[in-house]
Amino acid sequence: MANVAFIGLGVMGYPMAGHLQTKGGHSVRVYNRTAAKAQSWVDIYGGASAPTPAEAARDADFVFTCVGNDDDLRQVTTGPDGVLSAMKPGAILIDNTTASAEVARELDEAARARGCHFIDAPVSGGQSGAENGVLTVMCGGDAGVFEKARPVIDSYARMIGLMGPAGSGQLAKMVNQICIAGLVQGLSEGIHFAKRAGLDVERLVEVISKGAAGSWQMENRHKTMNEGKFDFGFAIDWMRKDLGIVLSEARRNGAKLPVTALVDQFYGDVQAMGGNRWDTSSLLARLEKP
Ligand code: NAP
Repeated sequence: MANVAFIGLGVMGYPMAGHLQTKGGHSVRVYNRTAAKAQSWVDIYGGASAPTPAEAARDADFVFTCVGNDDDLRQVTTGPDGVLSAMKPGAILIDNTTASAEVARELDEAARARGCHFIDAPVSGGQSGAENGVLTVMCGGDAGVFEKARPVIDSYARMIGLMGPAGSGQLAKMVNQICIAGLVQGLSEGIHFAKRAGLDVERLVEVISKGAAGSWQMENRHKTMNEGKFDFGFAIDWMRKDLGIVLSEARRNGAKLPVTALVDQFYGDVQAMGGNRWDTSSLLARLEKP
């Protein structure tokens, strides 16, 4: 069992840190910017909390981060009182934030400079995946370091894969978001059309979800989409952050992403409708706007 630090107890980090303590049996010390959340975590799971990321990371064998974006990540890692100022040589920094491949490579270098290691490890599976400890984790880093980190990451994962060197986990997560963007627009158009055509959406999905049109989104989101319920799940503000990272990486590597770019604009329309925190399936609301 290892000494573990966890930085960022948001929707995702809170239950993930919980699994490391309970399912993994590790000794977890948490840090959260809003201290009340760290206290509530300790009340529920035991473990300990620290006043700064650096204090949480001191003596830890594995340091996890799960914050918002690139800048937030820099603050808690290489900023003043960031984890890298205190990590012991040989310790492994594992970042679960959805961030750019560039910041992952930057942190890999910063970790090496201190005699530490880095794995970028963005996740997919949403809030329920985090709460049930069944996330998909896409990793980038050295194979030997990954093998050491894998059994610890396993506490909150169902599927863990090493995609290549540092930054590759983030690149894989970008592909994940590209695939989701076009698919959700297609599903929204399908449901929108079905309603206009007077079809019973429940019966329709029962039949077509077993064929070539079936998807996780169709199985898990058609009911709430049909009911016009979007105030849950993965927020559009986060999706636009992710698509921004994707489109900027595509400008670098020359990939053509016309549908992804268009859907990003559609999400902008939904934000303008007040949907910043709505689920990504709310592309349907845009089509049904009078
Ligand atoms: P969240 O609920 O908004 O939590 C963000 C966490 O980061 C909070 O603990 C916040 O602290 C902390 N934080 C943000 N900026 C910080 C800063 N500058 N310094 C210190 N702490 C900071 O977000 P989330 O849903 O857990 O998502 C976290 C990451 O996972 C994001 O990159 C997101 O894109 C990704 N992700 C989310 C989902 C999902 O379904 N939610 C799915 C896959 C991936 P405070 O409590 O003080 O605000």
